[in-house]
Amino acid sequence: MSHDDCIFCKIIDGEIPSAKVYEDEKVYAFLDISQVTKGHTLVIPKTHTKNIYETPPEVAQELFARIPKIANAIKDVYQPQGMNLLNNNEKAADQSVFHLHLHLIPRYGKDDGYAINWTTHVDDYSQEDLQQIAKEIGERVQA
Ligand code: AMP
Ligand code: ZN
Repeated sequence: MSHDDCIFCKIIDGEIPSAKVYEDEKVYAFLDISQVTKGHTLVIPKTHTKNIYETPPEVAQELFARIPKIANAIKDVYQPQGMNLLNNNEKAADQSVFHLHLHLIPRYGKDDGYAINWTTHVDDYSQEDLQQIAKEIGERVQA
């Protein structure tokens, strides 16, 4: 299933060029043109799905099943010190291409170009607060 106006579907179909890293019947992996760090790779399902909210479990399963071998290939070739996996959903969370994708960002040190602002609020929540939040979410998780 591909969407006419989706740039990543066009990449899968070969209508737009890409630097392909890996492909099989379910997923396609290619270099992110922004190369936040060297080897920055996007892994996408061949089935068009807007983002994580609209992704059927089997598509998520197939996508994630390929991540370890692609991550290990990047690790073997460039020997980064670490790797971040990133998935943005909706504009407010910096999603700019609306075809589900997972960023693999190898890390080469603190000043390698990748940064994320992460403020801890550990002092603002009691154990009871955490239990209440977990309960609210947990009750909504569908079996
Ligand atoms: P996000 O902001 O999480 O939606 O990520 C979208 C990513 O797609 C960005 O990091 C872009 O650099 C990348 N991108 C957009 N167009 C292309 C393209 N034609 N080839 C490779 N990467 C692309
Ligand atoms: Zn698409």
